[in-house]
Amino acid sequence: MRILSAFIPRPQILSLRRFQTNSISTIHASMDPTEQSLRQSLSEKSSSVESQGNAVRALKASREANPEIDAAIDLLNKLKLEKSAVEKQLQSTITSSGNGSLNREAFRQAVVNTLERRLFYIPSFKIYRGVAGLFDYGPPGCAVKSNVLSFWRQHFILEENMLEVDCPCVTPEVVLKASGHVDKFTDLMVKDEKTGTCYRADHLLKDYCTEKLEKDLTISAEKAAEYKDVLAVMEDYSPEELGAKIKEYGITAPDTKNPLSDPYPFNLMFQTSIGPSGLIPGYMRPETAQGIFVNFKDLYYYNGRKLPFAAAQIGQAFRNEISPRQGLLRVREFTLAEIEHFVDPENKSHPKFSDVSKLEFLMFPREEQMSGQSAKKLCLGEAVAKGTVNNETLGYFIGRVYLFLTRLGIDKERLRFRQHLANEMAHYAADCWDAEIESSYGWIECVGIADRSAYDLRAHSEKSGVALVAEEKYAEPKEVEKLVINPVKKELGLAFKGTQKNVVESLEAMNEKEAMEMKATLESKGEVEFYVCTLGKNVSIKKNMVSISKEKKKEHQRVFTPSVIEPSFGIGRIIYCLYEHCFSTRPSKAGDEQLNVFRFPPLVAPIKCTVFPLVQNQQFEEATKVISKELTSVGISHKIDITGTSIGKRYARTDELGVPFAITVDSDTSVTIRERDSKDQVRVSLKEAASVVSSVAEGKMTWQDVWASFPHHSSAAADEQE
Ligand code: AMP
Repeated sequence: MRILSAFIPRPQILSLRRFQTNSISTIHASMDPTEQSLRQSLSEKSSSVESQGNAVRALKASREANPEIDAAIDLLNKLKLEKSAVEKQLQSTITSSGNGSLNREAFRQAVVNTLERRLFYIPSFKIYRGVAGLFDYGPPGCAVKSNVLSFWRQHFILEENMLEVDCPCVTPEVVLKASGHVDKFTDLMVKDEKTGTCYRADHLLKDYCTEKLEKDLTISAEKAAEYKDVLAVMEDYSPEELGAKIKEYGITAPDTKNPLSDPYPFNLMFQTSIGPSGLIPGYMRPETAQGIFVNFKDLYYYNGRKLPFAAAQIGQAFRNEISPRQGLLRVREFTLAEIEHFVDPENKSHPKFSDVSKLEFLMFPREEQMSGQSAKKLCLGEAVAKGTVNNETLGYFIGRVYLFLTRLGIDKERLRFRQHLANEMAHYAADCWDAEIESSYGWIECVGIADRSAYDLRAHSEKSGVALVAEEKYAEPKEVEKLVINPVKKELGLAFKGTQKNVVESLEAMNEKEAMEMKATLESKGEVEFYVCTLGKNVSIKKNMVSISKEKKKEHQRVFTPSVIEPSFGIGRIIYCLYEHCFSTRPSKAGDEQLNVFRFPPLVAPIKCTVFPLVQNQQFEEATKVISKELTSVGISHKIDITGTSIGKRYARTDELGVPFAITVDSDTSVTIRERDSKDQVRVSLKEAASVVSSVAEGKMTWQDVWASFPHHSSAAADEQE
């Protein structure tokens, strides 16, 4: 949880909700009525069992006649059976309402085992027992990432003519001070009082409540409602409130059961110093966006001083997460791809909005979240027209992000756009939506899309003294009324001596309302009390010390700070969710085992094609080499498998890597091409093989086109061959 304050800098829009793992039930505290009545009934049954147990014991002690004891025991057994039936019902209600985690964990384990075994990723520094939150991508992982990034470049940078930049990860402190990260990029942490081990305070509270709700069937309906309520509101807790709840529930350090310290803010940035003197403090950047903001002036000139324009950057970001869990989803170094689209705040229309306005997908506006409803399919054009989405440009990017994610292979039924609640948004933000993808960890924020207004450019203008502004030239000069404040320095110098500069600056910084009020008081009373914030006190301003007037001027241009609309993509999170959405199992031909398949679309598949000689002989191996050379020349990544294992085993191996096509060389004139998901095969001439695979892998042809154009046989026949 990021700490919220009145002046929330950019990281503060990232409250706990950016990583909600059970979002519907944590967004609102209402409890499923079935669960509520089952909890009630279970507590009644438990009391009946207890009192009937007491009755049986009393009868036995008073040595009553056997028939009476037998009848009481029969009733006790009946009540126990009823209690156990309600317990079972409650357990299954909890599991099916999404709180249950058993199936999800088993599924996740299957995915993660395959990913690690096939080197999609590797815990970093494994031979030294690794470091939490750091991961390496192995060969197929690198290939998937490179495919995702090259599609990102094509879909956003190329298609929208964005200006790409590449800035350093090491960032001087002043930049991150201006952006607010130095003061506010924090999570609340607690320490094991004996061992010093650190935990994220909100995670401990969340785990406690979730475990109680999922595993403790004995808690009353009221207590269950309380835990749900805590989950819903905990991100708004102050450090004191969070500490009080941890104490109230008796939460201790998970590993040792030792007492915990009070929560306190921990800054997530990795600190460093630049140069050998150690005198220039710096940080590893927690996001790439600041590199773009500080280059705004040059980029604006590069773009011919025209708005709107967008700049983009792909690069590493570093966050010293307190206790990273959840594998690739919460790590300490990750790749971000960020866009900063600069726009005139008075015109946020988008010329290409009609390209996406008809799209319909799951959206979760804040009203629906507050009233306990779930995400609904909405038409993007209507959502913008009704003002649910603040403006066309924000809507345009929501649509483009939807297209990007679904083209990668994210299941559109498990993708939703959730609007930030008012308490999640910074005061300056106009509107924010997160693309959340459902995985075994729940709904995960993978892309944040925010209209951040002019906050970032203003913050850097103020700190650096360089005006980060844009101009709009008027066709005809416009007559405008301007406020003119002229402090009379001679008089002010005499009155305030060494503090004259502070008074002058404060006078000049008055807004129109303040200045006109001062003018009126000076005219009526000749003197006014004036608060100088840099002195922290009131001073007395006399009529001869300042002149305030409104003058008519001709202006040839308007100078303003652009608004920025920022889509920010966590590439690792998208890739992990993609792995889960593409993973499936199918029975082996003999039916004795389940085989893993990654059904990656060709666009992201790490290897597009495998080439197998059916049997080991020189003729087939020569043909394999010819095909490989042609595939290389058309830029299709492929892998040759000349091992003598059965063709079925070789297919299974490549299915597990998500390779969409396999060429089997079974003659020196023609070959078969097999499609991974259908297992269907076509026969093509040796010469055509590479170009057919290239067309279908690059989306120029569909597999249906290929199937219709060549002699083929279906998966049933293919199974015979395997
Ligand atoms: P934020 O600036 O916090 O909105 O983050 C931008 C994007 O970065 C999020 O939408 C996530 O996809 C991703 N992200 C944030 N923190 C992490 C992390 N610790 N590990 C991996 N991805 C992250």
